Amino acid sequence: MVEKKNIKSRTLKATSGLKLEMGRHYLAIEQAIKEGKPTAWATSGSPVELLYAMDVQPMLPENSATISAAKGQSKGFIEIAEDEGFSYDLCSYFKTNIGVTSSNTIDMSVGGIKKPTFMLSSDVICDTHVDWFQVQSKRFNVPHFTIDVPHVVSNTSNRQKHYFKKYVIEQLWDFINFMQEITHHEFDINKAREVAENSFDLSKIWQDIFELRKCVPSPLSTKDTFGGLFPLFTMPGLKSPIKLYKKMYKEAKQRVDEGIGALEEENYRLMFEGIPFWYNLKFFNFLEQYGAIIVYEPYTYSFSKYMDPSITKDILLNSPVETMAQLMLSFWYIYDLKTRVQKFQETIKNWKIDGVILHNNLSCRPNSCGLYDLKKHLMEDSDVPCLIIDGDMNDPRKLNSTQTINKIESFLELLENRKKN
Ligand code: SF4
Repeated sequence: MVEKKNIKSRTLKATSGLKLEMGRHYLAIEQAIKEGKPTAWATSGSPVELLYAMDVQPMLPENSATISAAKGQSKGFIEIAEDEGFSYDLCSYFKTNIGVTSSNTIDMSVGGIKKPTFMLSSDVICDTHVDWFQVQSKRFNVPHFTIDVPHVVSNTSNRQKHYFKKYVIEQLWDFINFMQEITHHEFDINKAREVAENSFDLSKIWQDIFELRKCVPSPLSTKDTFGGLFPLFTMPGLKSPIKLYKKMYKEAKQRVDEGIGALEEENYRLMFEGIPFWYNLKFFNFLEQYGAIIVYEPYTYSFSKYMDPSITKDILLNSPVETMAQLMLSFWYIYDLKTRVQKFQETIKNWKIDGVILHNNLSCRPNSCGLYDLKKHLMEDSDVPCLIIDGDMNDPRKLNSTQTINKIESFLELLENRKKN
């Protein structure tokens, strides 16, 4: 049996600033609504930067849903949605949002959300986003703009890629026109550049933080990154989260320089693919008690959208809208299997990962699709131990904790035996 040593972990002091940072975001929403300024619901992966550039206050229902889960409220909201006829298998973020609005929950501290001026969705990550806002925009009787993003697959030619980019660019300009009509705000290219620069800087520091996680021992854990990711998709374009990330980086770098890890004892380095169980983050503490640290999550990394090395700051500032289209076409979650396997293999090597835990998310197709193929390739081609666990990011009914803990313990035992041999 692998030994549970009750190893303690150290969260970065700077991470405590996250609460304040997110508080600013919720305050800005309250303020905008109070002053009658335009607001918009936006799905993750959609160009939130354009909202900031047009002085529209974003609200992210997925972020609100995670709060409901963390506060132990998501199950109740999901059941309200199911009572209304939404299927047990549908996305639990979507159903949480349905339950929140059907129960007229506006208290943001439990994941409540308010009526927006309009809604912005995109199918860059999943088609549920579009269906979700189609349903909710009808209920709230507000306009809905959706951006269709074609997926680049293995055989996509350069000619097709060029066409895809042109197609998305046209939609982004249509979206800007749509916002101008609704808000009566004029599009200002200099403001768009300023927002784009902040978004770029925010993402780059996040990537630098991830670079530090390559070090052994890793200076930070999921206690810093799971919550730390939220400014990336709620506030890309603002200056204040950049300061928070810089502080996190500085403290993590100091730990690296002093050889201090996030865990008192680091025994196994893991990758976790998928959305965490927001209602049960203690699960990750459980891993750490064995000295198992997650050093990379593709999910939290993917929101630092400037991953295509051909996109430099100069290019971005020169043409922020056009570059946004290119970014939407290079999002991690639209990778085909071949590229995804290759990315995983590179990451496993660079971050010195001993094993991979794959979250088979029962209500999210983009997160669960291809996991068995991915596992097969990583195990057979690269001899990397992989474990698939079933669960759901927001619906606690779908996680069998005892069974999952048993699986994890066996997996850690396997990693321990490999170390010995
Ligand atoms: S199905 Fe998955 S990707 Fe789509 S909204 Fe739900 S959690 Fe997000």
